[in-house]
Amino acid sequence: MKYGVNGQGYYGDFGGAYIPEMLYPNVEELRQQYLTIINDDEFKAEFNQLLKDYVGRPSPLYHAKRYSEKYGANIFLKREDLNHTGSHKINNAIGQILLAKRLGKKRIIAETGAGQHGVATATVCALMGIECVVYMGEVDMERQAPNVSRMKMLGAKVVPATSGSKTLKDATNEALRDWIGNPVDTHYIIGSVVGPYPYPDMVARFQSIISEETKKQLLEHTGNELPQYVMACVGGGSNAMGMFYHFLDDESVKLVAVEAAGKGVDSGHSAATTFLGREGVLHGSRTILMQTDDGQVVEPYSISAGLDYPGIGPQHAHLFKINRAQYVSVTDDEALQAGLLCSQMEGIIPAIESAHAIAYLEKMKFKPNDNVVICLSGRGDKDLDTYIKYFGY
Ligand SMILES: *Cc1c(COP(=O)(O)O)cnc(C)c1O
Repeated sequence: MKYGVNGQGYYGDFGGAYIPEMLYPNVEELRQQYLTIINDDEFKAEFNQLLKDYVGRPSPLYHAKRYSEKYGANIFLKREDLNHTGSHKINNAIGQILLAKRLGKKRIIAETGAGQHGVATATVCALMGIECVVYMGEVDMERQAPNVSRMKMLGAKVVPATSGSKTLKDATNEALRDWIGNPVDTHYIIGSVVGPYPYPDMVARFQSIISEETKKQLLEHTGNELPQYVMACVGGGSNAMGMFYHFLDDESVKLVAVEAAGKGVDSGHSAATTFLGREGVLHGSRTILMQTDDGQVVEPYSISAGLDYPGIGPQHAHLFKINRAQYVSVTDDEALQAGLLCSQMEGIIPAIESAHAIAYLEKMKFKPNDNVVICLSGRGDKDLDTYIKYFGY
């Protein structure tokens, strides 16, 4: 693959594995084994069976008729919101739990911000009967209380991270500390295309089922497996990478990645990483991140907890730098309005994350026969309180 990872774990200038010495054995074990394991026929059969019977795949590709009329092109929604647990995150969690089993691991750890990845991880651990510990910032535990309850109900132990800003990056530090202390029996399930190599490549491969299905479904709908545009929101970038993956080498397909501008890119309350960030190292890989002049990570802001991340995965940093994909941003207000419009025009309440991708339709100019696919990464049930507060229902 032209835009894939090279043998050293890099995408152009980005990627690699910038890890403390003490994590080397864990990451090295993964690096040596991941491709052999996930390319094994038995692994693939088990992965695909669970995606079908447990997750409910293939997720539909829905031709949104009223949107198509409004925007003057054929708008398709890839319905990851219909997956078990309500988002694309389960695809990766299933892949990684099967990998962990084959590595002989007896214990799973994960970090979570909004709780969606924590819920997906707790779910697959219950499915496999494996012990699960999820680290979560104390502030996030308060903000996302229903997801904390879900994880507990599923049998996971939720450990509050009480240092720093008590949010996602502190939870990540706690999870890494745990992994250093338990290198032999524990696998760390990272929830996006971030972290040291091989995580970004591994997670992208597990999420690539999204574009694999989309190609077949587009062929059925339109007679052509290639659309003109593919769009997705970007936090760390896993739903976008899954949505882009099998279109990357088809240069005619325009890829649009939508970041969270929060209260505006210049407001000081934003998570628009490609606008505000510079090259540096975050969570084990060289990428683009929001940082101060002396390299301290800047606390990001978005109304959407899933997009509230100060970096992007290294493959995104590469696609941005070489201009293979276009990186744009959408504010809180624009996303919430798009969420309301989607609810009332298509009967689908989207996650606020996904609403960012949909909101960008307003700024696009299409030709009448353009085919446009948007990844609807998750459902909006978890966001009802936020929507209701905003619209004053
Ligand atoms: C977590 C999440 C995201 C953002 O994560 P990516 O890795 O960028 O996909 C987007 N949408 C939903 C519904 C999520 O739960």
